[in-house]
Amino acid sequence: MKERILMMGLGAMGSVLAKLLLENGKSVTLWNRSEEKARPLKAIGGIYTPDLSEAVAANDIIIICLHDYAVTEQVLQGISLEGKTIVQLSTGTPQDARLMAASFEHRGAVYLDGAILATPSQMGTPHTPIFLSGNKLAWTRTEAILRILGGALSYYGEAPGIAAAWDIAALSSMFGMMIGFLNGARIVESEGLQVADLGNMVYEIAPVLAQMVKDTSDDIQQQKYDNPQSSLDICAGTFDLMVRLSAENKLDPGFAQFARQLFRKGLDAGYGQQRISALMKVLR
Ligand code: NAP
Repeated sequence: MKERILMMGLGAMGSVLAKLLLENGKSVTLWNRSEEKARPLKAIGGIYTPDLSEAVAANDIIIICLHDYAVTEQVLQGISLEGKTIVQLSTGTPQDARLMAASFEHRGAVYLDGAILATPSQMGTPHTPIFLSGNKLAWTRTEAILRILGGALSYYGEAPGIAAAWDIAALSSMFGMMIGFLNGARIVESEGLQVADLGNMVYEIAPVLAQMVKDTSDDIQQQKYDNPQSSLDICAGTFDLMVRLSAENKLDPGFAQFARQLFRKGLDAGYGQQRISALMKVLR
């Protein structure tokens, strides 16, 4: 029997998810607060239902891609979820996921929490990553459908918070690098150099950067702090220079100051002759 899928949320991401499902022959009911976003999807076979209660009652599988968990809770308030299989693909914290799992399972649904690690234009490829965790039955019921949205699915088991934890940790790594890059771009710009050339340089050395991240993660896991190639003391000097450069070139000093205070905490704690992994002890 053909699954009856409800797609809740037709923003930039939800619209693409609905389109992929429809293009792959799925029967999809559409719900969105504002109806106009459903129009292009109706043209390719989607069924728009303005009444969410009716839409939920008519479908077995509910895929959610709304602004956040609070909006999800708000729009589904008072609607029966008995027997439904729900996949939440809005971005949230691990605690959001745990609370939603408890609340929806109490209301009779099986709940899978998901995190999309891609932009709308990257969806639907064999390499598109989606992290999932939560109810095993919800996972087995929806795996084939989710594979249409992203081929690189990772199911991390029944604890609902795991997908969100991986997602936000990955976003931290990504945006941390982007903020460092933007700061570097200002340095380059202020010296009359081309930002695009810095981008190309970072692109070229990306495998080295990735190796450094991997080595540091191994050090942290194995509690290896001693015998550094570059001591924390030497690394911290970078940020003294960067704070001075910010003043000399009249740049925003926020990034350099933030990094300097973190490294200084490491030095104050006596880790000057240790590896960068020792900063983890400061953060803990
Ligand atoms: P978006 O274009 O801003 O869409 C937001 C959606 O939430 C729309 O359907 C909007 O309805 C709905 N919404 C917002 N407030 C609402 C309210 N008070 N009541 C009812 N509906 C409400 O965002 P998006 O890019 O599609 O992102 C949706 C989710 O996917 C977010 O959690 C985001 O973090 C996640 N995500 C996005 C990307 C991405 O690259 N875009 C990547 C990974 C994950 P209206 O259309 O009526 O405003």
